[in-house]
Amino acid sequence: MKIGEKLSGAFVLHSSLGKTMAIFMLLLLTAVLVISAWTLDNSWQRKLEDTESNAVNLSVSQARQAEDTFLQTEITLRAIEREIPEGGPTSENKARLDKVLAEMKNSLPQLNGLFVYDAQGNWIATSATHIPVGINNSDREYFTYHRQNRHTGTHIGHVIRSRTTGELVIPMSIRLNDAAGAFAGVALATVRVDSFRRFYSYFEMGDGDLLALLLDDGTALYVRPLPDTFINRSLSSSPLFTTQLVQADRGKGTWNSALDNKERIFGYARSGQYPLIVAAGIDKSALWSQWLRDSMPDLVLNATLLMIILMIGTVVLRQVRTNVENQVELTALRDELTTINQSLQALAMLDGLTGLPNRRQFDVFLLQSLKRSAASGRPVALIMMDIDFFKRYNDTYGHVAGDNCLRRVGEALKNMPLRQTDLIARYGGEEFAIVLPDASLDAALRIAQSAVEAVRETAIPHESTSLEERIVTLSAGCFALTGHHVTLDAQHIKEGADLALYQAKHQGRNRATTIDAGPL
Ligand code: GH3
Ligand code: MG
Ligand code: MG
Repeated sequence: MKIGEKLSGAFVLHSSLGKTMAIFMLLLLTAVLVISAWTLDNSWQRKLEDTESNAVNLSVSQARQAEDTFLQTEITLRAIEREIPEGGPTSENKARLDKVLAEMKNSLPQLNGLFVYDAQGNWIATSATHIPVGINNSDREYFTYHRQNRHTGTHIGHVIRSRTTGELVIPMSIRLNDAAGAFAGVALATVRVDSFRRFYSYFEMGDGDLLALLLDDGTALYVRPLPDTFINRSLSSSPLFTTQLVQADRGKGTWNSALDNKERIFGYARSGQYPLIVAAGIDKSALWSQWLRDSMPDLVLNATLLMIILMIGTVVLRQVRTNVENQVELTALRDELTTINQSLQALAMLDGLTGLPNRRQFDVFLLQSLKRSAASGRPVALIMMDIDFFKRYNDTYGHVAGDNCLRRVGEALKNMPLRQTDLIARYGGEEFAIVLPDASLDAALRIAQSAVEAVRETAIPHESTSLEERIVTLSAGCFALTGHHVTLDAQHIKEGADLALYQAKHQGRNRATTIDAGPL
């Protein structure tokens, strides 16, 4: 990648650090989300459980309260029963009975009235101050019930409107028998619906919450806070009667109320003594809203935590991205510098004018060759070459032409068929050299002669040369040795070749000569 190239945002994810950080952030985010969701769900489940048990407790306590109310009423009815003469109630006892009933009624605030009817439904006695004229109660459900059922237990009927006060009342009655056990009338106590209304209003409940007193046939005797029009409605199709009470006399559950189709969390309890059931229902949607309100600080806290993690994640990833970018830029810079360095190194080893390896490369190569020679025991040969009368060439044609001439001579030498392992270099000035590793003096001489020949063949005109042919020529001296002491070897081989070159000059130039190791 080149320096300055635009790095995309996704690029950071391709770096291993970026990837690790992104995965870490993602894991952290998921963990916080899961823990938050789990905590909130736990708190909601706990709320539901608490509400269920509260509803059960409320229904149990109210079933007990209703039981007490009706137990007191039953005790009163039994007391009335004892006041009735053996032959059954007659109007002869009326004055005494009226008094007794009025006293009994006054001692129980939940009572609306106490009544005694004869076998025909005629009012015999009442706690009320007056008896409506010409009224007969044989049409009432409780009357028919007792006439038809021989048992002497209590009977609680549906809510009715009192004929004396017009109030809504729950009738509780017992059958009166004569001495022979035949039906002799009914003793009736009417319990005020208002007494339950007042009692249920003591509880702090939401507008959508229910507290219901029911008969075990599913009839609603009183349902807080619903209007009186719901009284006597049948709830027998409600899950309370179809599934719950079938299984247990007390319990809990969530279902849609049969009265208004609202979903509620119910607790219910059946009275052990009377056919009564109390159900307490808590409005689930209101409970949810309240729970949301209560959990708001937690929700805000969790959301803030998530935001903070997201922000930290963004900052860290941005930082990682910057680091990765810097790293990439540094790598690119290093690569470029390496390339430049390599080119510079290559340039430093080449001669600028001829493009041939320069003196420095020549020295390194010669030393290496001598080292290898010392190791292998095979000789290294060196050819030193010098252009003849080059000073005159410069003088005649000028230095620019002189440079050109050097270039052409270099070209001619470069084109010689040498081995890969040989090195031809510009030694300095108008001098060239060829290092021939693993070559004998004879082989070197042949190559030196072909170098002289190659330059001659180039036929560069040279007017001021002392040689017959008026062209640029070359003299070459060869020397060879087998390395054994590298630093001294380099000096010896150069001196040898130089001496041979001197001889070639001395013998008339334009030629190649050798000397063997003898004269050194
Ligand atoms: P000989 O035949 O004995 O070698 O005579 P010569 O004139 O070639 O030798 P000498 O050493 O007297 O002269 C070498 C000349 O080469 C001197 C210098 O001006 C010239 N020379 C050396 N380097 C360069 C170069 O890079 N460019 C040019 N144009 N001339 C160079
Ligand atoms: Mg010279
Ligand atoms: Mg020369």
